[in-house]
Amino acid sequence: MNPDNQPEPQTRATTAEMPASNNGALPVMHLYNTLSARIEPLVPADGQALRMYACGPTVYDYGHIGNFRTFLQVDVLRRTLRLLGTEVRHVMNITDVDDKIIRNATAAGLDIADYTRKYEEAFFQDLRALQVEQPEVVARATEHIPAMVALIESLAAEDIAYRADDGSWYFRIARFPEYGKLSKKDFGGITDGARVDVDEYEKDAARDFALWKAPKPGEHQWETALGPGRPGWHIECSAMAMEYLGNSFDLHAGGEDLMFPHHENEIAQSESAKHHTFARHWFHVRFLLVEGKKMSKSEGNFYTLRDLLLRGYKASAIRMLLITVPYRQQLNFTFEGLEAETAAVERLRTFKDRIEKTHWPQSLSRGMAGVDSAIDDAARAAREKFRQALANDLNTSEARAAIFDLVRFVNAQADAGNFLESNQHAVMEALQEFDRVFAVLDDQDAGWTRFTLDWAEREGRLDQASPELLATRGITDAQVQALVEERDQAKRRRDFKRADELRNQLSGMGILLEDSKEGTRWKRK
Ligand SMILES: [Zn+2]
Repeated sequence: MNPDNQPEPQTRATTAEMPASNNGALPVMHLYNTLSARIEPLVPADGQALRMYACGPTVYDYGHIGNFRTFLQVDVLRRTLRLLGTEVRHVMNITDVDDKIIRNATAAGLDIADYTRKYEEAFFQDLRALQVEQPEVVARATEHIPAMVALIESLAAEDIAYRADDGSWYFRIARFPEYGKLSKKDFGGITDGARVDVDEYEKDAARDFALWKAPKPGEHQWETALGPGRPGWHIECSAMAMEYLGNSFDLHAGGEDLMFPHHENEIAQSESAKHHTFARHWFHVRFLLVEGKKMSKSEGNFYTLRDLLLRGYKASAIRMLLITVPYRQQLNFTFEGLEAETAAVERLRTFKDRIEKTHWPQSLSRGMAGVDSAIDDAARAAREKFRQALANDLNTSEARAAIFDLVRFVNAQADAGNFLESNQHAVMEALQEFDRVFAVLDDQDAGWTRFTLDWAEREGRLDQASPELLATRGITDAQVQALVEERDQAKRRRDFKRADELRNQLSGMGILLEDSKEGTRWKRK
């Protein structure tokens, strides 16, 4: 797609231009805009499809639940837009070259493409497990180098990009006085020429940042008009967003951690090069806490999606937990909460089965006129509340409550013998509408759990799986016996470290060992 052929949309639509929501019509999406610090209507500037860009993963490891909270909330946004009648053109990048990837690939002795392929594949598998819809366009950074080079060249032509002595190119931040307008940071005087060459930094001082990095020995590099090297992280998103969405587009999304410097730098580069507003609306998803603390490997509360699946939690419950707390609120992820969501999903599925599969009476024997229309009315009201809550800055918590209230009401009516076959349609419609956004009713959990166990086996991580899961999977006695014998051999050669590892692995599989003079006996927990 050639961005030059696209009509330049107006800088910002005002409330007065929005179609009003009236009875029966779908509500208009309103969303908080980080840039304006206000809740504003979100409608496509071109009147056709909402053009949105969401920062994708850096594929150097498995995705953790903090990452997935962001991807899930973006999924809720796109599903809500479509529910409310707006088509979307959603572009997501894959960062497959950056500081961390180069560091890890070098340590593993692999080319970056060989290193990242595995994690990219895993990322998309995880998204499918979580029922996240695929964006319309997925763009890999390494496949868009010419667009990045062209963007840097156009900045260089205006002396906004300059080449440092080592061959790297930097963005001259003093040339963009609006720097800080997204993150609302006041940089209080910019030091011209002070530079930072890493992709991620937290310093509050504005410094010229790297657009293009000169190659270091052994690093993957591209030969370009800028000289040899590789792109910085920030330029990649600017180039790919504008390649697929035009110089100016509707919405840019990402986790709150990306607001500075990443998104601030995207704005500076793009608006300096094109002299247009880059993204009109900015959507940022807040961090989560785990058991009340910041998630970190050193705290021991760091979880990938796969860690949780191996512990026996269901993908649907994880999805439900990560989307139920509205995106601008901090979510405190707890295992208690995850168990509550497991039960909540189960309640919904049981309810759907009940409504769908029961042979309901066609009329009430006791002549209670009006009860059947009360159920239909409740279903319609729940749908209306559901839509309104989502249209109001994506209030997933209220939206969900509307449906759970309906479930309670209908269950009570059905228990009292007041539910009729003619009520089925309205109640099922409300459930289906709920599921167009929440996407938890279709039970694919067992398949994803099996998939994850197979993966764990290939990766030698079965010891991380819960005994209950392994038991359901059916580790055969012969497999257990082989591990027990391996442990006995390790003990005989006095390799107690290995023997302990094997004991732990077996324990993780729900196998208890008893050492005796006759050898090792084992039993299942
Ligand atoms: Zn980005």
